[in-house]
Amino acid sequence: MRLENKVAVVTGAASGMGKAIAELYAKEGAKVIVSDLNLAGAEEVAAGINSIGGEAVAVKTNVAHESDINEMIDLAIFTFGGLDILVNNAGIMDDMAPVGDVLDGKWELMFDVNTKSVMRAIRKAIPIFLEQGNGIIVNVASTGGFSGAHAGVAYTASKHAVVGITKNTGFMYAQKGIRCNAIAPGATMTNIVNTISNVNELGAARTKVIKGVIPRLGQPEEIAQVALFLASDESSFVNGAVITADAGWTAG
Ligand code: NAD
Repeated sequence: MRLENKVAVVTGAASGMGKAIAELYAKEGAKVIVSDLNLAGAEEVAAGINSIGGEAVAVKTNVAHESDINEMIDLAIFTFGGLDILVNNAGIMDDMAPVGDVLDGKWELMFDVNTKSVMRAIRKAIPIFLEQGNGIIVNVASTGGFSGAHAGVAYTASKHAVVGITKNTGFMYAQKGIRCNAIAPGATMTNIVNTISNVNELGAARTKVIKGVIPRLGQPEEIAQVALFLASDESSFVNGAVITADAGWTAG
C-alpha cells in the first residue's frame, strides 16, 4: 500500500473527485478526514470506507470559514495523531459570467471557496509540516487555472490563483521537506459538470464532447489516481507542478 499509516485530510470529499480521492487514499492505507459542507454526504463516504476496513471520520467544513478549516485540521491531529497529506479539493463553479457581467458577490464567494480556503488550509498545515520535516499538499485547480476559455471570469481567476499558490508554496518550502502540487482536471463527470451544463450553454460540457471540442469527459477515479501519485513517494521529485488530466483537451 502506497499511503500506509499516513493521515490525509480531503476537502469537498462528499462527492465527485474528493470522494474518489478519499476512497482511493483509504484503500492505499491512509486514515482520512472526509471533510465537506455536506455533512450527510461526508458521513456516507466515511461510513463506506469504514465498512470495508478503512479508517475515516467525517466533518462538516465550510472552507470559506477559517475557523472551520482550523477545526478540520485539528480534528486530524486529535483523531489520527498527525497530518501528512492535505488535499484542497472543495470548489464551486456555478457562474459562467465574463467580466462584463460578473457580480462582486459572486467573485467574492468564488475566491472565498476556491482560493482563500486553499491559502488558509496550507497556512494552518505549514507549522505541522515544518515541525515534522515533511508534508504533502495536493491542490485541485482546473484547466481553467491556465486557460481563459473554459469558465467564467471569477472561476478562471480563482483557479489561476490556486496555480500561483501551488507554485509559490512548492518553491518556498522546497528545502523543508514539503511538496505542493496541483492537478488541473479537464471536464470530469461530477455534480459540477451537471450544474454548469444547466447554467449556460457555453459551459455545457456534454455539448462540447458531442461537438468534438472535448475528447471525452473524465471520471473522478481518473483524477484520484493523479492525486495518489502526488501524495505518494513515487512523486518525490515533483514539486510546484501542475499536472493536467484532460485526455489531451488543452494539448491542442
Ligand atoms: P462536486 O460538486 O462533485 O464536488 C465538490 C464538493 O465540494 C461537494 O461535495 C461540495 O459539497 C463541496 N463544497 C462546495 N462548497 C464547499 C464549501 N464552501 N466548503 C466545503 N465543501 C464545499 O464537484 P467536483 O467536480 O468533484 O469538484 C472538485 C474540484 O474539482 C473543485 O475544486 C472543482 O473546481 C474542480 N474541477 C472540477 C472539474 C469538473 O469538470 N468536474 C474540472 C476542473 C476542476
